[in-house]
Amino acid sequence: MLIIMKKIATKKQIQNIIIIAEEKNYKPHIISGKDKVSIAILNNNNEIINLSNFLGLDGIEEIIPITKSYKLVSREIKQDNTIVKIGNVCFGDNSMPVIAGPCAIESKQQALEIAEIVKKAGAVIFRGGLFKPRSSPYSFQGLGKNGLKILIKIRKETGLAIVTEAMDIENFNILEEYADAIQIGARNMQNFSLLKRAGKSLKPIILKRGMCATLQEWLMAAEYIINKGNNQIILCERGIRTFVKHSRNTLDLSVVNTAKQETHLPVIVDPSHAAGIRDQVIPLALASAAVRPDGLMIEVHNKPNEALSDGAQSLFPNQFKTLMKKAKAIYSLAGKTN
Ligand code: PEP
Ligand code: MN
Repeated sequence: MLIIMKKIATKKQIQNIIIIAEEKNYKPHIISGKDKVSIAILNNNNEIINLSNFLGLDGIEEIIPITKSYKLVSREIKQDNTIVKIGNVCFGDNSMPVIAGPCAIESKQQALEIAEIVKKAGAVIFRGGLFKPRSSPYSFQGLGKNGLKILIKIRKETGLAIVTEAMDIENFNILEEYADAIQIGARNMQNFSLLKRAGKSLKPIILKRGMCATLQEWLMAAEYIINKGNNQIILCERGIRTFVKHSRNTLDLSVVNTAKQETHLPVIVDPSHAAGIRDQVIPLALASAAVRPDGLMIEVHNKPNEALSDGAQSLFPNQFKTLMKKAKAIYSLAGKTN
């Protein structure tokens, strides 16, 4: 249930509703809109919320049911976009910031070289994995916490904010202090303990769509995070598993606008993990720009043929440079009204 407060509602009136909700053992969440405050009243353990507890209280403009199964992430309860800030970069403000970097941090030299390349081409956030979810236990698993000093050096030397993936709560606890944002990967989209941990963090979370997840399941995963208090969530479409063999996954571009209608959270696209093949990444990234996502995430390597992880889909520096120019142009053309 959503209680929309009058524009002129006082802090005391808002507080009164919170107190009553807590007394009844409901979970109240304050949502600050542009000019009004709303309070989502959520239940614990499937209890039915009794509307009569709130009817007639001072300061209330309207009480409406929340019809979606996801509540706090839905547009129904918050019409304006949530702006998520990673470092100084805003997601959700009608721009398309680009996050780029190698799949895995391999060495100081490799990571720094790539960071300089992507920064020069216009990327504003550096992403590199330290803990890698690899399909094979025999593949490179990442430098782990030994690589943290490299990420810190990159931020210091380039000024780029840094994003890296946590595969479990233990990783999360280590990375939270150092990273500017934490990625939860496709394989962990329904790792509910990890989602709850992310919900208690003050760091922004990039939540990738699970490879077999529907839009509803993806939004419910985000609901786990926001429910614990963290509304700094960016959703990332990265391709879903279909019957095709010509690409690693199938990039679901139709989800971007539908997701943005359903949720106030920013939605970005990662064409690299959808394609799996370098030559498909460029056209898919351009197609992504045309649906005007809130950002792109692209894998780039200084020497893709020698990469220890996802080399086949990593762009060469020159390809990334050209892509950046074209993607920005397509994004702005697609945004023109006539
Ligand atoms: C990655 O970002 O390197 C990664 C493993 O992504 P995904 O979780 O989308 O497969
Ligand atoms: Mn990768």
